Amino acid sequence: MTGPDELPLRPELRGRSPYGAPQVPAAYRLNTNENPHPLPAELLADLGAALGHAALELNRYPDRDAVALRTDLAGYLSRTSGEAVTPQQVWAANGSNEVLQQILQAFGGGGRTALGFTPSYSMHPIISAGTGTAWVDGHRRGDFTIDAAAAAAQVREVRPDVVFVTSPNNPTGTAVALETIEQLYSATAGVLVVDEAYTEFARAGTRSALTLLPGRPRLIVSRTMSKAFGMAGLRLGYLAADAAVVDALQLVRLPYHLSSLTQAAARMALAHTDALLATVDEVKAQRDRIVEALPALGLTSVPSDANFVLFGHFADAPAAWRALLDRGVLVRDVGLPGWLRVTAGTATETDAFLTALAAVVAEHGGRT
Ligand SMILES: *Cc1c(COP(=O)(O)O)cnc(C)c1O
Repeated sequence: MTGPDELPLRPELRGRSPYGAPQVPAAYRLNTNENPHPLPAELLADLGAALGHAALELNRYPDRDAVALRTDLAGYLSRTSGEAVTPQQVWAANGSNEVLQQILQAFGGGGRTALGFTPSYSMHPIISAGTGTAWVDGHRRGDFTIDAAAAAAQVREVRPDVVFVTSPNNPTGTAVALETIEQLYSATAGVLVVDEAYTEFARAGTRSALTLLPGRPRLIVSRTMSKAFGMAGLRLGYLAADAAVVDALQLVRLPYHLSSLTQAAARMALAHTDALLATVDEVKAQRDRIVEALPALGLTSVPSDANFVLFGHFADAPAAWRALLDRGVLVRDVGLPGWLRVTAGTATETDAFLTALAAVVAEHGGRT
């Protein structure tokens, strides 16, 4: 069998592995930050009808500009952020990963550079590589927070074309202060992408970077329906930015990239926003429960504004990962020495996780 490296593959892709959390069978899958709550019954019924209706037109190409969907998304953003966002400022694609790819196609690419503050979402460097964009690791403090002045200085020095800030950050969980985002925006001549995939789970008082959009034409805020909306299978991500950014992305998007079924399903989901987001408070309560239970087990966590918790320290995190899996609980080893990441889900899942974790700690005498 021929391996990819024996093909005339682009040199920067040689020897790389595809992205993907190990999906091993487990009773409790707490490794990919999905919302485990089932979709509301009324939504499922309405989705069936909406998809049936859209199916009648499947002989036709979809609305290339997804105007109705972008209008609904703009309505959701305006309602929840208090910031007036117009449909012309919104763009949608198949997951925020595709949104990020389009951003890099338009603003990154050969001879250009992207910078992000690691550890952060591992798809940012992977999509950069896929678009031929060079990647530079930005620095964080030892406690995973971003030192705004040092970060801005690094941006001034590297002069990246695209800067990524994930807020709340994945895999560490903490939201980034808007003052830091403002400073990074001032420091760069490139576009600043704030990846807000988890923003609906942020602790009270956390403000979205949407509020910084006026007067900042190079600021892009990306969002997704994969996490709080509980619709990872739908593949719907979107962004808000200056309308000029949306115009720029038209140059690289594939025509008719969003199927009419996706557009219809996403619109119906948005019509049920309140019911879908009703589980967010429950997930946050489980997250806080995990955080509060850790000290009694001799463990600690990083402050979380997301639906997951980065917890440690373990002498041997891979061994702890394995010991939890042996008890039916699959968490994520994100490759940070001493730390593991667990998704907050239902109360039952949290019970199972905390019980397994207590057993693992007891067995290894806290020196796992
Ligand atoms: C899960 C996640 C996404 C979501 O990607 P989709 O393609 O929308 O499913 C985006 N950014 C971050 C930081 C994530 O963790």
